[in-house]
Amino acid sequence: MDLPELPGWMAGDKERLWHAPVSGGYEPEAECGHRIQGRVHARRGVYPPQGDGRSMCPACAIRRDVFWQAPVDLLRPLEEAIARVVFVAPELIKWPDEDFDEVLLAQAA
Ligand SMILES: [Zn+2]
Repeated sequence: MDLPELPGWMAGDKERLWHAPVSGGYEPEAECGHRIQGRVHARRGVYPPQGDGRSMCPACAIRRDVFWQAPVDLLRPLEEAIARVVFVAPELIKWPDEDFDEVLLAQAA
């Protein structure tokens, strides 16, 4: 007897993430180890549906080797860090004249 094919993505009706199931039945297990709770929505396909307020579970997406869009709140610290970077022309950098390791060695001698 053939086992029924698992859908590509599942989400519990009260959950925010679409997970990639590796088992069926009651509380199916996802690639990331999460047990999908409650009434389950299931979709076939490489990608889960868009625009239903849920996003793809990053761990499941990585395990399935599919591109995932990082949520904005996850990217914000990265954007802020990039905004703080100051670019300086190499000729404006005041490189030290001395090799600090040589100075320390001379002091220790
Ligand atoms: Zn997952």
